[in-house]
Amino acid sequence: MSSPNVENVVIIGTGCAGLTAAIYTARAGLNPLVLEGPLPGGQLTTTSEVENFPGFPHGVDGFQLTQNMREQATRFGTRFEQVLVDRVDFSAMPRRLFCGDRVIEAKTVIVATGASPRMTGIPGEKELYGGKGVTTCATCDGAFYRKMEVAVLGGGDSAAEEALFLTRFASKVYLVHRRDALRASRIMADRATSHEKIQMVWDTVPVEVLGVPEGAVKGLRVRNVKTNAESVLPVRGIFVAIGHVPNTGPFAPPLEVDAGGYFKPQPGSQVRTNVPGVYVAGDCSDHVYRQAITAAGMGCASAIEAERWLAEHGG
Ligand code: NAP
Repeated sequence: MSSPNVENVVIIGTGCAGLTAAIYTARAGLNPLVLEGPLPGGQLTTTSEVENFPGFPHGVDGFQLTQNMREQATRFGTRFEQVLVDRVDFSAMPRRLFCGDRVIEAKTVIVATGASPRMTGIPGEKELYGGKGVTTCATCDGAFYRKMEVAVLGGGDSAAEEALFLTRFASKVYLVHRRDALRASRIMADRATSHEKIQMVWDTVPVEVLGVPEGAVKGLRVRNVKTNAESVLPVRGIFVAIGHVPNTGPFAPPLEVDAGGYFKPQPGSQVRTNVPGVYVAGDCSDHVYRQAITAAGMGCASAIEAERWLAEHGG
């Protein structure tokens, strides 16, 4: 089965999950190969300051945090390659990853490809994304909007949760939803609609984020879908919470996904998949927590699983 060119572990993705898996497998002497995708460092690199990652009492820059992880993985011998996986063949051993003209063979694979926030696509959103006022993570960025008015876009559990979390900081939270009823669970919907700091903006879609020439959000133009009337919400922060799109690309199938399109781990495990020796970690398989620290935890778990699999099956 083994040829000199067969990798012990190939990790796909360089977010918190992938890099943590790399640190653990490299430190275990497995000489992992990490394949880097279109957003090196993952979603964390799009956030300015991370204040809730344990071990950094004064916060840490998101980009710097992933750089630190990368340096730590490199120190133990991780190899990195910037290459996209187009197709996989997990039907036989070794597992095969097709990347353009190249075929990479591996005994174990850790898929940590992350998820991308679904965006509205309205003018100004892309230009002001990141530290300029448009964001997709209240847990990460909410504290920057103390005593300011903010808007949350969406009507699901995420939007309700983000809006409730933001009431700790913001003076007022507009919850902008395209229909007249929330999709969120009853308890979350009740909490959001009855909160004194949250103003529901029903039947309304975002039209334009204002503030492009200034380089910071100055407001949100919205349109009522029933009356067609437009108005401007005087917000400094806009939290887009209209769902996520997991990056399952060429891996599903053969890897199983759930109804939301996320990789579906085997019962009783967070990281084992329907293919032995192939693991998933981080936001590509987690639509519940979606935190850097939980992704890192899953990366660690997947690395330990891969290490055990190799020990049992000849690594
Ligand atoms: P979601 O349930 O898919 O809700 C997305 C919301 O965004 C929907 O209200 C949808 O409107 C709206 N939307 C979608 N595309 C839009 C667009 N282009 N423009 C404007 N609005 C748009 O996503 P989610 O809230 O991220 O939740 C994902 C899953 O995680 C769910 O299963 C949820 O229950 C779970 N979750 C659970 C918790 C918790 O239990 N604490 C917290 C967060 C998430 P429509 O309603 O009109 O479709």
